[in-house]
Amino acid sequence: MTTDKRIIPIALPSVGEEEWLATRDVFMSGWLTQGPKVKEFESKFAQFHGANFGIATTSCTTGLHLALEAMGIGEGDEVIVPAFTWVSTANAVLYTGAKPIFADVSLKTNNIDVEGLKNLRTAKTKAIIPVHLFGLCADVDAIKAELPGVKILEDCACAAGAKYKGRFAGTLGDVGAFSTHPRKSITTGEGGVLTTNSLGLAEKMDCLRNHGSSVSEEQRHVGPKPYLLADFNEIGFNYRMTDFQGAIGTVQLSKLDQFINERSKWANYYSEAFSDISWLITPEVPDGWRHAWQAYVCYVDPAKSPIPRNELMEILQQKGISTRPGTHAVHNLGIYKKLYGFNSQSFPNAYLCDQQTLAIPLHNRMSKEDFDYVIQAIKEIS
Ligand SMILES: *Cc1c(COP(=O)(O)O)cnc(C)c1O
Repeated sequence: MTTDKRIIPIALPSVGEEEWLATRDVFMSGWLTQGPKVKEFESKFAQFHGANFGIATTSCTTGLHLALEAMGIGEGDEVIVPAFTWVSTANAVLYTGAKPIFADVSLKTNNIDVEGLKNLRTAKTKAIIPVHLFGLCADVDAIKAELPGVKILEDCACAAGAKYKGRFAGTLGDVGAFSTHPRKSITTGEGGVLTTNSLGLAEKMDCLRNHGSSVSEEQRHVGPKPYLLADFNEIGFNYRMTDFQGAIGTVQLSKLDQFINERSKWANYYSEAFSDISWLITPEVPDGWRHAWQAYVCYVDPAKSPIPRNELMEILQQKGISTRPGTHAVHNLGIYKKLYGFNSQSFPNAYLCDQQTLAIPLHNRMSKEDFDYVIQAIKEIS
């Protein structure tokens, strides 16, 4: 085991020559924005996840917005979201004019707490956005049982390739919104993909991502009268992915299973190594779930930990090991406190997760020596 100082980032995308070469065709073709490469990527992405349709977007955030718009959600509506998630899950609801209704999370899974969800339902409740945080699917069947008839938009930002009871993330509700940001399992720099089995929603999302155009740019260019502009029957957005990103995405997608299998192996390696540290609670995977391990997020038990979490993070930082809180409690962010008068205890579990979770490095460019270095550094603290 090496004792030399290492620099280990929290995440590092696995991209290189193959992805770079894939962009060559795009440069040479002269078609740079959403075109054949995006089409190929979104189709393959949908196929991989067992969904009928894939709609590429500029990010998961814009994907969430697009999906909510396509579902007809707007002013006067309410959408339930977990309080412990990335800020954009809730922001996307606000973009539409609807109101996010926060639910607390389970300390065991970091995902939305299903118990009591039905108490949040009002006549205005139109949808719920379960988040599959860090790559572990939320218990969607239990959510459906609690909230029958409420539309489900899965926040799959962390869940490319994740499975729940034999089904892939992105097919568990009405629409799934994935991210291909470099922090996620596969990347296109920025970007995202929506999945759905509904032809109606797919057509609507396809139209709205392109300004609400009745005909896609590509279709118009190859059609009989390319000189005529399309009609626009509703207000849309420009959420189109570029063909560069599409080309990169197809290469990345072909490696997704391998990426998850490798990370899964190392996640188990971590969990085994930490099993005798009573204050560090390692992530659990319920039977029947396939964790995609976008991140490896532990919980530092405040009652047992020898030092506070942030001091732990500082010590690891000094050893060259990057760590992060799992994510943040959205209700405790300045803007949400201001909008709704929340305090930290409005959603106590989300606040605990915000304060006590610890993501340690897990990515596909780490060596065994890197993992051992992280393990040793944490063991030295205990
Ligand atoms: C990263 C993330 C997002 C945002 O994804 P972008 O593609 O960066 O917009 C949304 N929700 C969750 C849970 C995330 O982790």
